[in-house]
Amino acid sequence: MSTVKPRRITVLGATGSIGMSTLDLVRRNPDKFIISALTANSNAQALAKLAIEFNAELAVVADPKQYRLLKELLAGTAIQIAVGEEGLIQAATLNADFVMSAIVGAAGLRPTLSAIRCGTTIGLANKESLVCAGDIMMQEAITHKTKIMPVDSEHNAIFQVFDNAENNSVEKIILTASGGPFLGRDQKSLKNVTPSEAIKHPNWEMGQKISIDSATMMNKGLEVIEAFHLFPVSTKQIEVLVHPQSVIHSMVQYVDGSVLAQLGSPDMRTPIAYSLAWPERMHAPVDRLSLAEIGQLSFFTPDLEAFPCLRLATEALHAGGSASIVLNAANEIAVEAFLNKKISFTDISSVVQEVLGKNDMKAPHSLSMVFEIDENARRNAENTILNSFL
Ligand code: NAD
Ligand code: MG
Repeated sequence: MSTVKPRRITVLGATGSIGMSTLDLVRRNPDKFIISALTANSNAQALAKLAIEFNAELAVVADPKQYRLLKELLAGTAIQIAVGEEGLIQAATLNADFVMSAIVGAAGLRPTLSAIRCGTTIGLANKESLVCAGDIMMQEAITHKTKIMPVDSEHNAIFQVFDNAENNSVEKIILTASGGPFLGRDQKSLKNVTPSEAIKHPNWEMGQKISIDSATMMNKGLEVIEAFHLFPVSTKQIEVLVHPQSVIHSMVQYVDGSVLAQLGSPDMRTPIAYSLAWPERMHAPVDRLSLAEIGQLSFFTPDLEAFPCLRLATEALHAGGSASIVLNAANEIAVEAFLNKKISFTDISSVVQEVLGKNDMKAPHSLSMVFEIDENARRNAENTILNSFL
């Protein structure tokens, strides 16, 4: 019998794509992990099922309207229940060794930050929180000696090949991008694509929002900003390279000309397993990479005319101040409007550009300012859609 104490894991966003992949690894390793808290937005049924299966200590549903249902479903169990943002924070700060931050969007910021302030190791999938408040999060991580493990496949790849002791020898980091389902198309031909076409990612199975972000390449833009906060590089040292096979997950180039890369099948259970087991490694049940079968790998520079979201995100990073928060908030609203068939695919970048153009908010000095800028940009995006795009 193993004498190592199982690690207590909390999953914020347990019912989502990253949440379920994390729980798949937990399920396969009952001697290594036990579940502390699980959270979901509104799917009480799925949450209750997981909470019972993993015998969670706490189950939290963000939507208060789902409280009664969750309570009914968990009646007769010892599982505690909480709701709303307060509940999410309770989950994030419950006694745990590792918190998987896998809520989608800026909604993940407060819970993730609460977990960081407890000093609990974070598996960070929720890139939007870093895009909105990267400076604050990284500073808090230093203050509370919190380890942040990048889960996003590109950042996890960079983490694996980035020589921290030699960070002055790093010339640049190269983020690879699949190019999404519309790679090779021009902007004009993208005007009438439907949400179901945009959601179909060629290589990865992911939640709706990130799938649309991948189709517009906003995802890569958010990842450029994410990389800037996670690694000691300047904005000029981050490059994007389109690589449709998604085999090389990202690379680091050094002053001697060496380029180190991490490769693998496109399955998030690899970076999730890495983040859970670090500094050790654990088995992950993913397809093994067969380079002979793949045969060829290809690479292109990104087409910023067809995919203006990537350009907008890079510009927001260079502009600094409140721009990244505004970019993210406007994008969240625009993606939702596209999914609800209110605006076209190409309107997403137009909305973001227009809201960024009107932004006069100053750089945030506190978390409350971050939320004020975020809220303001959401209202601006909604009004922009109402006035110019409907
Ligand atoms: P998803 O939509 O599949 O799941 C999101 C989870 O967050 C669900 O559990 C949902 O209930 C919860 N949630 C949604 N809105 C919420 C709210 N307002 N309050 C509280 N909870 C809420 O998304 P996903 O694909 O798992 O992505 C999660 C995060 O991980 C995103 O930030 C995404 O960019 C990032 N990420 C995902 C992948 C991937 O392969 N899916 C890869 C890299 C990074
Ligand atoms: Mg990624």
